[in-house]
Amino acid sequence: MIKWGKKLGLGAAVMALTVSITGCGVVSTGDQPAAQGSGQQQEGQSPEKKDDKIVIGMSMDTLKEERWQKDRDIFIAKVAELGGEVKALAADGNDATQLSQAEQLISQGVDVLVVIPHNAEATAPIVEKAHKEGIKVISYDRLIKNSDVDYYLSFDNVRVGEMQAQAIVEKAPKGNYVYIGGADTDNNAHMFKEGAMNVLKPLVDKGDIKIVYDQFSKDWKPEEALKNMENALTANNNDVQAVVAANDGTAGGAIQALTAQGLAGKIPVSGQDADLAAVQRIAEGTQTMTVYKPITAIASKAAEMAVALARGETVQADKKVNNGKIDVPSILLDPIAVTKDNLADTVIKDGFHKLEDVYKNVPQDQWPKK
Ligand code: BGC
Repeated sequence: MIKWGKKLGLGAAVMALTVSITGCGVVSTGDQPAAQGSGQQQEGQSPEKKDDKIVIGMSMDTLKEERWQKDRDIFIAKVAELGGEVKALAADGNDATQLSQAEQLISQGVDVLVVIPHNAEATAPIVEKAHKEGIKVISYDRLIKNSDVDYYLSFDNVRVGEMQAQAIVEKAPKGNYVYIGGADTDNNAHMFKEGAMNVLKPLVDKGDIKIVYDQFSKDWKPEEALKNMENALTANNNDVQAVVAANDGTAGGAIQALTAQGLAGKIPVSGQDADLAAVQRIAEGTQTMTVYKPITAIASKAAEMAVALARGETVQADKKVNNGKIDVPSILLDPIAVTKDNLADTVIKDGFHKLEDVYKNVPQDQWPKK
């Protein structure tokens, strides 16, 4: 830690750093690679840690979706490059765990806290607690609502939803639509839906399409999406022409339900995140699109912001997003729609995935030319 205004003295800070952390999540530092999965931890801190070293706390909802591991690893590497270190903890989708992990990071005297909230509302007290200790909070990818959070760094999530619906409408301009949403507790899930409805509503009004099923999927779980899709198919005697799924995990669940009915590949399905499994499905033809959000860009930007704030510098944020309490200074990056047509020019070109991994289940003569 490098702040003077905090209650923790050096002795207390060193003690806190040497306390063994149990429970869900990971602890990692800029000096060591991050531990994978839940329940593991790496101490990684030497008791003689210099007090002027910048330490950034990262409180994560989950590491379940592929992307979050990338977010964490790139963030840690970038902070290390900038001379700091990261303590990252993941809460396995549990609000109480996230709160206590954030408290742990605050009491360890981190200089700045980066939070990926599981629950947009339930994480507001984290901001208050951090502020009491003079610690600034960055809301990473997901907005913490009704709080005085200092910055929000994300993608244009309404645009993500518009891209999803747009790609599906191009394949199925008419018919019965199913909307498989994300977690009700995640502000992003609402923005994705808002974006999708921006595109779908005029077509509903015109009578071209009918939304026959529209549900969130608890905690973004693929198995919840599977159940939702099964219910949608049953309720409509399989008379469904299109599926707008909010991310690749939920798309996977929906496609599993379609496969069971012999409908996979016949009905367009959207997604988001460019997970490997999803881009493979795109290459194979069972998923229509995904939204690629360059994780290197957001994680590196967050690292730069966090380290700058830790050094007492100001950070420029060109947008404002209202979180129910304040207009949060925000930076929103651009998402990229990905279909079979531009897989090679986007995720593969960027090195996000390798061509041979994406096309591994597709005969080689159908691979795009390098
Ligand atoms: C993120 C998505 C992710 C989802 C589930 C959302 O808040 O924006 O990229 O797929 O959470 O983790």
